[in-house]
Amino acid sequence: MSQKVESGSTGDLSQVSPPSASRADLHTHTTHSDGALSPYDLVQRAHSVGLNVLSITDHDNVGALDEAVEWGKSFDMEVISGLELSVSLGEKDVHILAYFVDRRNQDLLDYLTFFRRERLKRAERIVQKLNSLSIPLRLEAVLQQAGIGSVGRPHVANALLDGGYVGSYHEAFDRYIGTGGPAFEKKYQLSPIDAFKMITAAGGLSFLAHPGKYLSEFDLSQLIKSGLDGIEVVHPAHDEKLMGYYRGLVNQYFLLESGGSDFHGGKKNDDHTLGLFTVPMHVVETMRSRLFS
Ligand code: AMP
Ligand code: ZN
Ligand code: FE
Ligand code: FE
Repeated sequence: MSQKVESGSTGDLSQVSPPSASRADLHTHTTHSDGALSPYDLVQRAHSVGLNVLSITDHDNVGALDEAVEWGKSFDMEVISGLELSVSLGEKDVHILAYFVDRRNQDLLDYLTFFRRERLKRAERIVQKLNSLSIPLRLEAVLQQAGIGSVGRPHVANALLDGGYVGSYHEAFDRYIGTGGPAFEKKYQLSPIDAFKMITAAGGLSFLAHPGKYLSEFDLSQLIKSGLDGIEVVHPAHDEKLMGYYRGLVNQYFLLESGGSDFHGGKKNDDHTLGLFTVPMHVVETMRSRLFS
């Protein structure tokens, strides 16, 4: 419960968040992956909605970070180096967030270049499948959507929409490119252990992104045994009950908590979410102390 403290009031102030308490959004995307905003525009928007800390977590890409960290300084905002990777757990595609990675770590950069090349090959395979379904989408149209960013299915969805082959962004997933759909293609199969090793070697912490209702307790225990540091508890896909469930697991296994909006902007129609899915500053400080103390 949030309480407003009037000056001169008495009581246990340690239990009260001031109305202007610092807030962090630790899951956002830019044009360096499948987000609609440039690093500058995202930092500026984050500042305008009152965020104090922002992590940019582009898929397989740290290209936004140098610029965003610099822009952050001019808005008096901290920008934490982040990243979102995809790993395979059995048949499931699971997303992993990394925080506080050294964005100049050469091994990390080499891996990310490799993953982005694999994404490009996958986009080619998706386009081939669509063509065989009599949809004459061209790879160039997808790459134009991706611009400088790691190419992904959202770019295919936007190209299908702009080409008039579907009536909405979501229809592209539902009819063609969603998991198991007729034009679905898997990504490169990275194991959780390899992802965690890569993140640890680059000085970062690994978090399970937006687990939702998708993972079994067995899946979660596998990830925890493989070296997971924390779970993204706050996310638009999590209701109060799910947040309580994951907070319970965090406490039970001595994990860390994270959270954010997973903001992409643009045609995904999630423009309203920036600033609404946040974690308090102590969450960030706990991460930092796990790494640096
Ligand atoms: P990719 O990394 O290329 O597999 O793309 C994954 C992204 O596509 C996710 O981060 C979501 O933003 C989006 N996405 C995946 N499945 C769906 C879906 N069923 N409907 C809408 N967007 C989706
Ligand atoms: Zn995305
Ligand atoms: Fe994700
Ligand atoms: Fe994301």
